Amino acid sequence: MKAAFLTGIREMEIRETPAPNISDPHGVLLRVGVVGVCGSDVHYYTTGRIGSLVVHYPEWTGHECAGRVVAIGAQVTKLKVGQRVAVDPLITCGHCDQCLSGREHTCRNQGFLACPGQGPGALAEYLVMPERSCYAIPESMTTVQAAAVEPLSIGIYAQRLAEMRPGAKMAILGSGPIGLCVLLASRAACDCTVYATDLLDGRLAMARRCGANWVGNPKQIDVVRAILELEPLGVDCVFECAGQQETLDQAIELLKPGGSVLMIGIPEVDRVSFSIHTMRRKEIQVQSVRRQNHCMAPAIDLVSKGVINLDQIVTHHFPLAETKQAFDLVADYQDGVVKAIVHVSE
Ligand SMILES: [Zn+2]
Ligand SMILES: [Zn+2]
Repeated sequence: MKAAFLTGIREMEIRETPAPNISDPHGVLLRVGVVGVCGSDVHYYTTGRIGSLVVHYPEWTGHECAGRVVAIGAQVTKLKVGQRVAVDPLITCGHCDQCLSGREHTCRNQGFLACPGQGPGALAEYLVMPERSCYAIPESMTTVQAAAVEPLSIGIYAQRLAEMRPGAKMAILGSGPIGLCVLLASRAACDCTVYATDLLDGRLAMARRCGANWVGNPKQIDVVRAILELEPLGVDCVFECAGQQETLDQAIELLKPGGSVLMIGIPEVDRVSFSIHTMRRKEIQVQSVRRQNHCMAPAIDLVSKGVINLDQIVTHHFPLAETKQAFDLVADYQDGVVKAIVHVSE
């Protein structure tokens, strides 16, 4: 089969590699349909690492995928050949303390698609996944929507962690795909006021279309001051979706006493700092967000019922042979890209 491999910093090749076989009776063989390009894939592509996870070339890539079941293992009970599925890229052990307490996303023996040394990548013609990582999608849902369910599930999970009450005031710092997914999830979940920022005006325009009440570009205005003029008491929660020191600092300034910051962005540095006295006086809660947990099914439900429109954040489409162009586009924020989709077989 053909698959995309990272072969160096900003280097990628489509290579022939053996197609996988179902070795576990709970495994499902998928014909990959489409794959979304995620910021974390691009981190590995441009820098060769995320924190302590370092790429050893050649390395698989891609994890936001949807496809069709083409074969099933002997003990697969829920899925049938021919069904289309959205894929949770996480593979868990099912028996550690984290899995047993319902925190599969922090499984101690986890594998994640295309994380260095952990598993194959989704940017391949075929993929074997455990049945429990695959979610059948309804006929009404497109395969592209199904691939975009994975980032949406992260937005839903972050929104749930924030325990927002109706009427909540919130800020989203960084309106890329994940920030926009937090926005869509929040709009669907409750009546709230959303302030969104980004360095790119095109993304702010999209945040507006996705329901932000106010948008601001920190390159043009002092966003903290502008938001606090409208919300003198501060906001209830801030979703930090940029992974920058600057946005963490803004978050602490923007929050009201007792507010929470949800850290979703992936910093390129190994350490960040906080203005500890401001944080202490306001008694700020810091919640880091690790991907998602149990939010794939609710994401599929909200999209298939038309409550959340994911099509609006999908901006670009590429065939598998042009995966490198897709990654370059996302890495360089070209052409107003938000979510780029690679079509592997559809
Ligand atoms: Zn992702
Ligand atoms: Zn586990």
